[in-house]
Amino acid sequence: TLENYQQLDFAKQDNLLPAIVQHAYTGTVLMQGYMNTDALHQTLGQQLVTFYSRSKQRLWCKGESSGNTLRLVSMHSDCDADSLLVLAVPAGPTCHLGSESCFSSAGFSEQPTLSQLMRVVQQRVANADSKSYTEQLLAAGTKRAAQKVGEEGVEVALAAATGDHDELLNESADLLYHLLVVLHSEGHELADVLQVLAQRRR
Ligand code: AMP
Ligand code: ZN
Ligand code: ZN
Ligand code: ZN
Repeated sequence: TLENYQQLDFAKQDNLLPAIVQHAYTGTVLMQGYMNTDALHQTLGQQLVTFYSRSKQRLWCKGESSGNTLRLVSMHSDCDADSLLVLAVPAGPTCHLGSESCFSSAGFSEQPTLSQLMRVVQQRVANADSKSYTEQLLAAGTKRAAQKVGEEGVEVALAAATGDHDELLNESADLLYHLLVVLHSEGHELADVLQVLAQRRR
C-alpha cells in the first residue's frame, strides 16, 4: 500500500499532507487530518491511522484514548502527490462527538446513498402501529422482510426479462431497500456485505 511515497510533496505545506479517511468498505468519508513523514511511517508500521495533530503538536494515533481506532486497509496519494486518501476500518464512532463520521451531523446527505438508507433503517424501531413502513416491517420480523426480498427479486427479474426499464430501476430500488431491512433485522451492517465483496475482488 502507498506505492510512490518517496515522491510525496511534503514541502508544499509545512511538511504536512492532508489525509482524508474513508471507510474501506462503505466509502463513507470519516474524517480529515494531517500527516507528516513520522505519522505516515507509524500508520504504515502499526497499521493504525496516525496523524500529526496541529493542536497537540505531536503524533496522534486516532483512538489513542477513546479506543475508536482506524485500522489501515490501504493508502493512496492524489494526482500531484500532495494529499492522501486513507482507507480504513473504524473500531467505533470516528467523530469525538459520537457520530460515525465527522461529516455526518444531521441528514447524512454527504454520505453514500446505501449507507444513508441503512442508517435510516437502523434508526427505526419495531412498531406495528407506526405509519412508518420500515417500523412495521421490523415489527413483523425477519421472515416477512425476507419474503419481501424474494418478491422484489422476482419483480426485478421480470422487469429485466420484459425490458421494462422504469420498472427495472424501481424494483431494484425496492430490492435494495428490503435487503437492507433483512440485513439489519439479522444484526448485520451494510459494511459486512461490502467486505465480502471487497474480499472477492482480485
Ligand atoms: P481519540 O484519538 O479518539 O482517543 O481522541 C483524543 C482526542 O482527540 C479527543 O478528545 C478529541 O479532542 C480529539 N479527536 C478525536 N477524534 C477526533 C476527530 N475525528 N476529529 C478531531 N478531533 C478528534
Ligand atoms: Zn493534489
Ligand atoms: Zn469529528
Ligand atoms: Zn417492488
